[in-house]
Amino acid sequence: MAARLIDGKALAAQVRAQLKPAVEALAARGARPGLAAILAGDDPASHVYVRNKVRACDEIGVRSELHQFGADVSEAALLERIAGLNRDPAVHGILVQLPLPAHLDGERVLAAVSPAKDVDGFHAENLGLLTRGTPRFVACTPAGVLRMLDHAGVPLAGRHAVVIGRSSIVGKPMALLLLQRDATVTICHSKTSRLAELARQADVLVAAAGRPLMVGAVMVKPGACVIDVGTSRTADGKLSGDVDFATVRTVAGWISPVPGGVGPMTVAMLVENTVRATELSLA
Ligand code: NAP
Repeated sequence: MAARLIDGKALAAQVRAQLKPAVEALAARGARPGLAAILAGDDPASHVYVRNKVRACDEIGVRSELHQFGADVSEAALLERIAGLNRDPAVHGILVQLPLPAHLDGERVLAAVSPAKDVDGFHAENLGLLTRGTPRFVACTPAGVLRMLDHAGVPLAGRHAVVIGRSSIVGKPMALLLLQRDATVTICHSKTSRLAELARQADVLVAAAGRPLMVGAVMVKPGACVIDVGTSRTADGKLSGDVDFATVRTVAGWISPVPGGVGPMTVAMLVENTVRATELSLA
């Protein structure tokens, strides 16, 4: 039997629609949520991502502003702009689109964003709060994955979840979220031996390695839930996930596609975090 499809695009539209009343309630209190997006350099994919984020904000009445810099921007100039946005009461959320140009220290730039406006959940303080089990802003991609799992009714407590990837913005927070929901979590990475064997033990498999089609049907336990975070551009310019959708869907119980899976949910979670940041600023 073919796996049930977890449609991230449809769920993201639902999440955005459900945020509208909260935005209206804030407007009635004289607070319009505002997101500032910082984009440095000319990476075409980054431009598309930021455009999608700005559009999603506009759609539900969240104000957005784009701060664009050339690829040769100095770190001092970026830090100065972030400091200004931290002080600006009309800005409730700040996102720094990654990757930054190579000459910049990404850690230092992300650390400059006020944790109270860190709607991407990348700041060490927010990652620390998640680690402690008292999250404030959770990184949007793993938060979106969790929402997809919940929406599909995938059981987590007591199940074995395997996360492929250990980055601070996807793999680690994903593992922490699953742990918080009482799953038993295995984190895999490029040095993991017996990856296929571990993946095959997963009730929930989250692939976030950025390796096109690395997860084939032989790595999936029959009936498992497979979430594909990977987004890579193949030589012919097409978007590819980490999961071989065509074969894995014949084995899995649930599967998310690329495109139309985690990507739209990441954007929806960003908008949700911005609305929450606005609410918290008034609390
Ligand atoms: P990253 O920082 O490059 O991390 C990739 C992780 O995968 C690393 O931990 C790496 O291990 C591991 N890995 C790489 N090759 C592997 C292999 N062959 N076997 C096992 N593990 C392997 O990437 P990221 O930022 O976490 O993003 C991961 C993927 O998700 C990318 O395709 C990215 O484009 C995509 N993404 C999608 C969204 C979305 O909204 N859809 C958002 C964010 C990211 P090491 O630590 O050992 O190097």
